[in-house]
Parts: sequence; structure tokens; C-alpha cells
Amino acid sequence: MECPYCHQKMEKGVIYGHRSALKWIEESRDKGPFISQFQKGIKLTDAWDLNELETYYCRDCQKMIIDVDIKSNII
Ligand SMILES: [Zn+2]
Repeated sequence: MECPYCHQKMEKGVIYGHRSALKWIEESRDKGPFISQFQKGIKLTDAWDLNELETYYCRDCQKMIIDVDIKSNII
């Protein structure tokens, strides 16, 4: 994947979650990490199945890009 900022090749890697799934919650609804597991959001990993997130990283720009499977992850 090409970095959209500097156009260099990005490194592929993985982010591992631990006990609960990683989830994106918009800032206006965020109530902190303890409440997040009960809130709706975009689920990025599944703690029961595959609690890892494929990620592309640009070391120069310090940016990461992830793909979001929107079909199955709004909870
Ligand atoms: Zn870059």
C-alpha cells in the first residue's frame, strides 16, 4: 500500500487486541474504555475469533491505515 502523504511504500503489520474487541467510537459518544464494550461502534476485531487487525504503517509520516469491513462490524 502506498502512503497517501509521502507516497512511499507502507509496511504491513498487525495490531493485537487482548480481552475485548477493538472498536471505533466517535468522539461525541465516547465515555471511556470501561463503557466502550457496551456501546455501539465500528468493531475492528473480534475478541472471540480473530482479535488482530491488519495494518499498514509509514515510519516517515507516523501514520497507519486499516481496512474496515463495514458489512459485519457495526454493533
Ligand atoms: Zn508516508
